[in-house]
Amino acid sequence: MSHIVKIKSIDHVTHDVLQVVTEKPAGYVYTPGQATDVSVNKPGWENELRAFTFTSLPDKDYIEFTIKTYPERDGVTNQLLQLKHGDELILHDVFGDIAYKGEGVFIAGGAGVTPFIAIFRYLQANNQVGNNKLIFANKTRADIIHEADFKRLLGKNFINILSHEQAEDCAYGYISEAFLKENMPENAPYVYLCGPPPMMDAVESHLKNLDIPDERVVKEGF
Ligand SMILES: Cc1cc2nc3c(=O)[nH]c(=O)nc-3n(C[C@H](O)[C@H](O)[C@H](O)COP(=O)(O)OP(=O)(O)OC[C@H]3O[C@@H](n4cnc5c(N)ncnc54)[C@H](O)[C@@H]3O)c2cc1C
Repeated sequence: MSHIVKIKSIDHVTHDVLQVVTEKPAGYVYTPGQATDVSVNKPGWENELRAFTFTSLPDKDYIEFTIKTYPERDGVTNQLLQLKHGDELILHDVFGDIAYKGEGVFIAGGAGVTPFIAIFRYLQANNQVGNNKLIFANKTRADIIHEADFKRLLGKNFINILSHEQAEDCAYGYISEAFLKENMPENAPYVYLCGPPPMMDAVESHLKNLDIPDERVVKEGF
């Protein structure tokens, strides 16, 4: 079943990431970490579906998405850049493999942090942040989504690694096996992983080499 919803607000949270807040259809249900297929309710774009993760909590009376845009491609996110308050989106099926199962380490690449935004907001609302840790890989510091919020929430359990820029308090390079060994808590019950396919492939192979069993890895490719 699909739902047409109006945009309540649309703002940049980084140079290329939008925070889109929409109405919430009555009785709409999802869990933190899940996503929905979304299209733009504009002639020619209604059937161009793209997956975006809910970054709002399910008990709110609105829906929030946090969306990295690709203005250089004639795709859906370029269309989103043209939208304003009152324009409409179509929400399609809700789905997703990521859900909180227990304490662990969250490893995100770029917009792959979106399911973890929802989960950390859920943990914060329920006083369950505990010793959960976030390793966040980006190209440059300007790409880090909600850096100040994560820093405030997680303190030393918020680790940044940048591949294209050397910056204070951030590791430099790509996530390697040695980096994971150094930064992953011993025996973390769960490893949550989300990011673009090349990053997922690399990190999954590091996790195998570190003898992390598949059943302790919760993941979704973007
Ligand atoms: C379950 C799930 C949840 C997701 N949640 C979010 C979210 O919350 N926020 C978010 O920002 N993204 C999310 N994504 C990713 C998002 O769906 C894609 O980035 C989106 O489809 C881009 O749409 P587009 O029409 O602008 O790009 P398109 O042009 O349709 O490109 C779609 C995909 O094709 C690939 N691609 C096409 N052309 C190129 C190129 N020239 N160079 C490199 N790659 C290329 C990329 O992988 C890109 O993501 C999610 C994906 C999945 C599967």
